[in-house]
Amino acid sequence: MSQLIGKVAFITGAGSGIGRGIALRLAREGADICIPDIDQDGARMTADLVTQLGRQALVLKANVASHMQIQTAARDCVNRFGRLDIAVANAGIGRSGSVLDMSPKDWQDQIDVNLTGVFLTVQAAAQQMARLGNGGRIVCISSLAALNTSGTMWAYSATKVGVAMMVRGWAQDLGPHRITVNAIGPGVIETPLAAGLAGEPLGAIRSSLETRTPVGRVGQPDDIAGLVNFMAGPDGAFMSGSYVVMDGGLRDSRGSWEPDPKAVEEQQRLFGRAAERQMKMQPLLDDRG
Ligand code: NAP
Repeated sequence: MSQLIGKVAFITGAGSGIGRGIALRLAREGADICIPDIDQDGARMTADLVTQLGRQALVLKANVASHMQIQTAARDCVNRFGRLDIAVANAGIGRSGSVLDMSPKDWQDQIDVNLTGVFLTVQAAAQQMARLGNGGRIVCISSLAALNTSGTMWAYSATKVGVAMMVRGWAQDLGPHRITVNAIGPGVIETPLAAGLAGEPLGAIRSSLETRTPVGRVGQPDDIAGLVNFMAGPDGAFMSGSYVVMDGGLRDSRGSWEPDPKAVEEQQRLFGRAAERQMKMQPLLDDRG
C-alpha cells in the first residue's frame, strides 16, 4: 500500500463524506493531501487524520464556485509541496424539488457548485499540472444520477451528466500534457449529503435499499476511494475519458422498487434535516468572488 509515495493530491470537499474517504485512502498510499473546502472544521479533522497516517496535509478555505478562491488554493498547494499530481473534483451539493416551484437561486447554486465548481477545480489543477510538466491524474465525482433521475432530482442529475460528458472532452484536451481525466458515478454512499437517501441503520429506507442492491448493502466512502486510488495509480495509466459507475448493482434494480409508506415518511424526515444543514452554507454561496 504505497503506490503514491511522493505524490500530492488536491481534493475538494474532503472535509466530509466521500472526499474524506478519498483523502485517507490516498494518504495511506503515501500521498500528501491538500484540502480545499468551505467546511473548515471538517477539513481540519480530515487533516488531523491524514497527519496521524504519517502524511502531510494542508487545509485551504475555498468555495469551488469561486474562480479566485480555487485558483488561489491550487497555487497554495503547489507553493507548499512543490507539485500537484492528483486532483479530485469532489465537492458537491444536492438541491431537489419540483420544476413547478424550484427557486432560480436553488437552480443557480446547484449549477455553480456541481458544474461550474468542477470546471473551475479541473482548470486550476490542470493549469498547475501543465505548468509543472509532470503529467497528472484528475478524477471528477459525478453520480449514478447521471444515468437515472426522478421528478425531484432532475437539477442534480443535469449537473452530474454534464460532469460525465466534460471529462470526455478534457481527456482529449489534456492528453498531450500526460494528464488523464475520468469520472466516477457513485450509487448511494453513506455520507451526510446522502443521509436522506441512505437512511439510518435499521430504518425503513435503509432496509429497502439493502434489499434491492445486488451486493446487499449501502456504499461507503472507502468503496469510492478505492476506485480513485486505481485511477490515480500505475494501473490507471491507460484509462482516460471514462465514466465508471460504482453502485453495488443498484442501477438496474431502481425501476422495480416501490417505496413503502414508512420509507417515504422516513425519507421526508431525513431530507428535512439535510436541508437545515445546507442552509448554513448560503452565505458562502452568495460570496462567489
Ligand atoms: P458531503 O458529505 O456533504 O461532503 C461534501 C463536502 O464538500 C463537505 O465538506 C461540504 O461542506 C463541501 N462543499 C460543499 N459545497 C462546497 C463548495 N461550494 N466549495 C467547497 N466545498 C464544498 O457529500 P458527499 O456525499 O461526500 O458527496 C461528495 C460528492 O459525491 C458530491 O459531488 C456528490 O454529489 C457526490 N455523490 C454522492 C453520493 C452519495 O450517495 N453520498 C452519490 C453520488 C455522488 P459542507 O459540509 O459545509 O456543506
